[in-house]
Amino acid sequence: MPTYEQPFPEIRGVEATFWAEAARGRLVVQRCRVCRAWVHYPRISCPQCAAADPEWVAMSGRGTVYSFTVVHRAGTSAFRGEEPYTVAIVALAEGPRLMTNVVECPPEAVAVGMPVRVAFRPVSDEIAVPVFRPA
Ligand SMILES: [Zn+2]
Repeated sequence: MPTYEQPFPEIRGVEATFWAEAARGRLVVQRCRVCRAWVHYPRISCPQCAAADPEWVAMSGRGTVYSFTVVHRAGTSAFRGEEPYTVAIVALAEGPRLMTNVVECPPEAVAVGMPVRVAFRPVSDEIAVPVFRPA
């Protein structure tokens, strides 16, 4: 496994399920059991109606680029040398959106509406970061 120099996710609470599933190659997002709103990032209650304990739902991993930016100058030293890289908001086929990276695609080829599919970038024995590549 290549050395991973970027900051690791801090797993301190309800997000443990998200990261445990990602380590198994599965993308999951919470959904409110009461109002059915998607809840992402992971939380202990629904931000729309305050109902507790949203359920975890497996995503297909398919989506489209909703918005993106290309980073040409990293804001922190941890990401220097990675530039240019694409930071994107991906709209999953099921509806929720998440911030991620588009990989295995030159930044100039990324476009809003581009179909993408999840992949998992292993960064440690316990953590794999969901990223997206062209579908
Ligand atoms: Zn709700």
